[in-house]
Amino acid sequence: MVDTSTPMMRQYRRIKGEISSDIILFFRLGDFYEMFFEDAKAAAPILDIALTKRHDVPMCGVPVHALDGYLAKLIRAGKKVAICDQVEEASASKGIVRREVTRVVTPGTVIEDSVLESGRNNFLAAICRSGDIFGLVLLDLSTGLFEAEETCDVSTLAASIRKALPMECIVPLGMTDDPVFREVVDGLSSMHISACEDWTFDYDTARDNLIRHFGVHSLDGFGCEGKKEIVRAAGAALYYVREDLRRQVDHIKSFHVCSATDFLIMDESTCANLDLIKQQGWSVGADLLGVLDVTKTAMGRRKLRDCLLRPLTDIKCIVDRHDVVETFYKDRSMLGGVSAELDGIRDLERLIVRIGSGGVNGRDLVAVGRSLSCLPTLKALVGNGEARLMKDLARRIALLPDLVELLTRAIVDEPPVTIREGGVIRDGYDQELDELQKIAAKGRRWLAEYQATEQERTGIKTLKVRHNRVFGYYIEVSKAQMGNVPDEYIRKQTLVNAERFITPELKDYENRILGSRERSIALEYEIFQSLRDTVLLETGRIQETAKAIAEIDVLVAFADRALALGYVRPTMTSGDRVKIREGRHPVVEQMPDSERFVPNDTNLDCTENQLIIITGPNMAGKSTYIRQVAVLVIMAQMGSFVPADEAEISVVDRVFTRVGASDDLARGRSTFMVEMQETANILNNATPRSLIVLDEIGRGTSTFDGISIAWAVAEHLHNKASLKAKTLFATHYHELTDLAGTMTGVKNYNVLAREKGDSVVFMRKIVPGSADKSYGIQVARLAGMPVDVVERSKEILANLEEGEFGETGQPKIAKQRKGKTGGYDPSQLSLFGTDPIRM
Ligand code: ADP
Ligand code: MG
Repeated sequence: MVDTSTPMMRQYRRIKGEISSDIILFFRLGDFYEMFFEDAKAAAPILDIALTKRHDVPMCGVPVHALDGYLAKLIRAGKKVAICDQVEEASASKGIVRREVTRVVTPGTVIEDSVLESGRNNFLAAICRSGDIFGLVLLDLSTGLFEAEETCDVSTLAASIRKALPMECIVPLGMTDDPVFREVVDGLSSMHISACEDWTFDYDTARDNLIRHFGVHSLDGFGCEGKKEIVRAAGAALYYVREDLRRQVDHIKSFHVCSATDFLIMDESTCANLDLIKQQGWSVGADLLGVLDVTKTAMGRRKLRDCLLRPLTDIKCIVDRHDVVETFYKDRSMLGGVSAELDGIRDLERLIVRIGSGGVNGRDLVAVGRSLSCLPTLKALVGNGEARLMKDLARRIALLPDLVELLTRAIVDEPPVTIREGGVIRDGYDQELDELQKIAAKGRRWLAEYQATEQERTGIKTLKVRHNRVFGYYIEVSKAQMGNVPDEYIRKQTLVNAERFITPELKDYENRILGSRERSIALEYEIFQSLRDTVLLETGRIQETAKAIAEIDVLVAFADRALALGYVRPTMTSGDRVKIREGRHPVVEQMPDSERFVPNDTNLDCTENQLIIITGPNMAGKSTYIRQVAVLVIMAQMGSFVPADEAEISVVDRVFTRVGASDDLARGRSTFMVEMQETANILNNATPRSLIVLDEIGRGTSTFDGISIAWAVAEHLHNKASLKAKTLFATHYHELTDLAGTMTGVKNYNVLAREKGDSVVFMRKIVPGSADKSYGIQVARLAGMPVDVVERSKEILANLEEGEFGETGQPKIAKQRKGKTGGYDPSQLSLFGTDPIRM
């Protein structure tokens, strides 16, 4: 079959030649999609199917009905797949059947549920650049979300793309080697980069593309007229999806241009450091998303993720959200009612896209109908709220009663998974269909009667009327009864124990039954398609409704969490103060088996309490505390209540964190280098409206270096008028507490710890003043260090505290104390070279 010179193989080669070589071609042959040559070799191991060979051509194939599952495997492995279908009926063609690539599926453009994660968007990114200006476009084909931002700041661009984690990114061919672009996408190993022809990013072409797609005269309505980089990237993205991938894009009905100031700016390492979202490529473990996510719908889950990554900065919008949360918080019956309705709503955003792309069945339409039927109650409940945003959200919900009625009337309650075998359309919906089905039913009755009559007439009680695909209907008589078979029966087949016959009457009926069944299936399919089209007419309104549902879902989740976990409504101000009474860390307090969480107060502003220095032993709770303050500010700006007894929070523009020793070895940077880069970024970009969390800076180098750098950083943050950002600074360098003596905005705090015999008890309480001791050795003991080492470190500590050098200039550190040799054996353990220093 795979003779490489056959017309079919020539057709294969032509089609393969038309698509990019990194795309695997699924070539439809009857009931299979076949892959050949390199495609087959690449796909077989991923799909776990046998690689065979014919005429030396490697090949493998998958059954057409199982396409989705196999497609999912390849896409998850980062492959692109072109589906080449037969575009005419085999019988209609004279020579070889016409075949065409009907769509190309790539990791960034999947819409199949089997590949997608319901709780997150699946983005295709497009990036372009002119001089210092970058455009970034994010398109989620599976929901129709299409948005963009323009920036001159490479780190902002890098942060946006890392937070969105696109599966695929298109860039102009000429930009693939751009070192800045390389830096921006550095380390994003799961993102597939597709280079597109430069002209697709050409401004006029791209603008034209957008204008035609949205059917508008100018791009003013989208706020991007003149924003060249955005227009270029957006136009190219649309072109790539529609033309290169031959995908349906009608459902992309809106385009949103984000401005950097709309959202609280934080980079992806801040999101990870603060445990907001632990996602693939960042880190794993408990996170704030896990604590807050009690959303009921997939749309709400995606929206919550977005809220976490992009908290708001507009105080009015924040307060609007708090108003809604408070309404739900106070009115539990309303909260319960809304939750119950949300429970019944499926992923309308993705359903409508799948319906538009054709790969749907009756169940999808039933799901749309049922979801829409929850809306009247939802709309009424939400519309009852006093809050402005509630009225607005209720207004944005479209009810579409006609559509609900139509779908309920037209489709059976539990339709089959296929739309090609009938059984989808309800009785009474279509007169012609009812007629056809009546004929079919009559036929079945006639057959039963015919069998009874024939049994009676021939006296063969075991005579049966049966059906198979080869003969259609036939009469089966066992060998033992052969003598009673009437002459007019026509023999068709002889089996071991039986003979099969047909009769003219039987064939006549068969024709009628089969004819009506075929017609009825075809008619059902037609009806289904027209229902589908009717649903699609409402795409825009359903998408808008879905967005409102997503927001309601998130706000309901906030109210639920506030009630269940004891959060309070924060008072938002445009001043400069962050004042929290009895604040708690939302993630740490939820850790299973953890000690009871000790709440703490916070008082930060841009004057007297601008730079808070927190000292205290290791493990005391410094890091937890400083992160907690940032997390509470972020939660408040997301629109959530916060874990505290009381909170007054001034809106911040950025949150910066520099936390712990995070080696970024994958990107080839050492701990100390990362630390200094991050610190430099903070000093260069923070404003008086920012919040900075510094955890142990200057640790990655020698003590004196470290203290010096930490000291200078603190001075800079405090003294530079254009900076003066609210800062929380946890450090184990006690020396830094001296800063408070000379600088008015610096306040010292420490985490209380009590010495108990040889051990230390952490009180977890933040109190004014600096820590008296660092208890490092006690902590080492708690950690299970050998007793000898613990004892020896006590000696060394005592030496150090007495003075650094002896008369000979040797460090006194190694000196042994009289009568307290402990288990120290100088021949085995030497801190300074092979000769232990003795004095
Ligand atoms: P440090 O930074 O001072 O070394 P951490 O903030 O890492 O200390 O805290 C150590 C551990 O103590 C945390 O993992 C947490 O389990 C616990 N902890 C911290 N703060 C509190 C608190 N306020 N209440 C209860 N447990 C806490
Ligand atoms: Mg710490």
